[in-house]
Amino acid sequence: MELTYKRTNIYSVADEAEKKAIFDYCEGYKRFLDAGKTERETVRETIALLTSKGYKPYVLGDKIKKGDRLYYNNRNKGLFILKAGTADVAKCGVRILVAHVDSPRLDLKQVPLFEKADMAYLKTHYYGGIKKYQWLTIPLALHGVVVLKNSKKVEISVGEDEGDPVFYITDLLPHLSQEIDAKTIREGFSAENLNLLVGGIPLKGEEKDAVKKGVLLLLNEKYGMNEEDFLSAELEAVPAVKAHDVGFDRAYVASYGHDDRVCAYPEITATLETETEQTVLTILADKEEIGSEGNTGMQCILIRDLLDEIAKSYGVSPAVLREHSMCLSADVTAGFDPAYASAFEEMNAGFVHHGVAMNKFTGSRGKSGSNDASAEYVGYLRGVFERDGVIWQSSELGRVDLGGGGTVAKFIANNNIDTVDMGVPVLSMHAPYELVSKADVYSAHKAFSAFVK
Ligand code: MN
Ligand code: MN
Repeated sequence: MELTYKRTNIYSVADEAEKKAIFDYCEGYKRFLDAGKTERETVRETIALLTSKGYKPYVLGDKIKKGDRLYYNNRNKGLFILKAGTADVAKCGVRILVAHVDSPRLDLKQVPLFEKADMAYLKTHYYGGIKKYQWLTIPLALHGVVVLKNSKKVEISVGEDEGDPVFYITDLLPHLSQEIDAKTIREGFSAENLNLLVGGIPLKGEEKDAVKKGVLLLLNEKYGMNEEDFLSAELEAVPAVKAHDVGFDRAYVASYGHDDRVCAYPEITATLETETEQTVLTILADKEEIGSEGNTGMQCILIRDLLDEIAKSYGVSPAVLREHSMCLSADVTAGFDPAYASAFEEMNAGFVHHGVAMNKFTGSRGKSGSNDASAEYVGYLRGVFERDGVIWQSSELGRVDLGGGGTVAKFIANNNIDTVDMGVPVLSMHAPYELVSKADVYSAHKAFSAFVK
C-alpha cells in the first residue's frame, strides 16, 4: 500500500521506446518554436497546419455542425480551434484548452528612430516582465507588421535567416562600470537605454541625421515605408537565436518564448491527434503577459460568444453548456532551480523531468488574484491522468511570501467553468533564452490528450 506522495522522474522510468517518443516529439516542437517567434507568426503557422488538416475558417453567426473542424482567427494575434464533437454538450460541455502565444520582448515605440554619435537606434518599450540587463549584448531580430499610409500591410522579419543582419543593444564595459554595478539592478538599467542599434552609415550629402536618413532610405527601398509609418506598426525585437538541445544527453530544449508556446504546441498536437467525441475548443491567446487585456486577450468576451454559438447551434442553453464545460489553463510554471533554491519551497515546487505541473491555485501572497480550482475538479483530473498513464506533478510558483503570478485561468473560470492551471516547468522563465525538459513537454502533450479524450 502506497502511503506517501512521491514525484516520478520521467527519464528514470521511461523505456527506450518512450524516450524515443519524447525526443521525436520535441523535434516537432523545436520546428514550431523557430517558425513562430511572435503571436502573429504562431497564429499564421498554426492556421497553415490546420488548413492542411482540413480545418475551415469560422464566421461568427454561422451554424456549427457536429463533426465540424473550424478555426476563428482573432485579428491575426489569437486563435480559437474548434472540434465540434458528437457528445451531448448539455451533459459534457466543451473541453477548453488555453495557452498564450505572446512572450516577453521589446516592442518598438511609435516614434522610434533617432541618431546619436553617428549611430542610428530604434527606441523600445518592453512588453511583459523582463530583467532588462538580460537583453543587452545579444543578437536580436525584428518581427512584425507595418501598415503604410495607403493601408497596405507589410510584414517584416529581419535577423532569422542565414546571412541576415541582427540588431544589438550595447552594455558598458566592466572597466567603467563601477557606478552602475553599485546600483540595484532595478536602478542600474533604464528602459530608455534599451535602444536597438540599427545603422551606422551616413547618407551622402546629408548634414543632419545622415545615418538616420540612411536607415530610412533602406526601409523605404525594402518596405516602401517612411518614418511616419512607424506610427501604425507593431514591431517586436526578439532574440535572434534558434531553439537548441541542451546537455550532452540532450535532455533539455533551450529557446526564446517557451512561455507559453511550450503549452501551446502540446495543446495543438493533443487537439489534432486525439480521437474524441467531446467538443474541444483550443485557444491560443494574446496579451497574457500584460494582463490579458483588450480584444485579443482572454478578458475579451469573444470566448463567451463562441461558446454561445456552439450552444445555439446544438440547441442547448448557453448557461448549461458553460456549467458543464471544463478548462485546462495551460501555462508554464517556475521549475525548481537549485542555484536559487531559497526562492522555492521544495515540497511544493515543480521539478524538471517530473512531468507537466498542476498549479491548483495561482496568484500571490495569500492567493491574491488567484484561480483556485476545486478539490472535486482536481480529483476528477487525477482520475483522467491515472487512466491514461500521464506522469504529472503538483506545483506552486515559488515561496509564499516572495511573489507569484497570475494566468488566464481566472478569466475562463469567471464564465462558470471549472478551470485549473497546468503547464511545463521552465527554468530562467522570461529570460531571452528559456529552458525546459523534453520529458515535461511530452508529458504536457499526454495530459492534454487525456483531457480532451
Ligand atoms: Mn505564461
Ligand atoms: Mn509569462
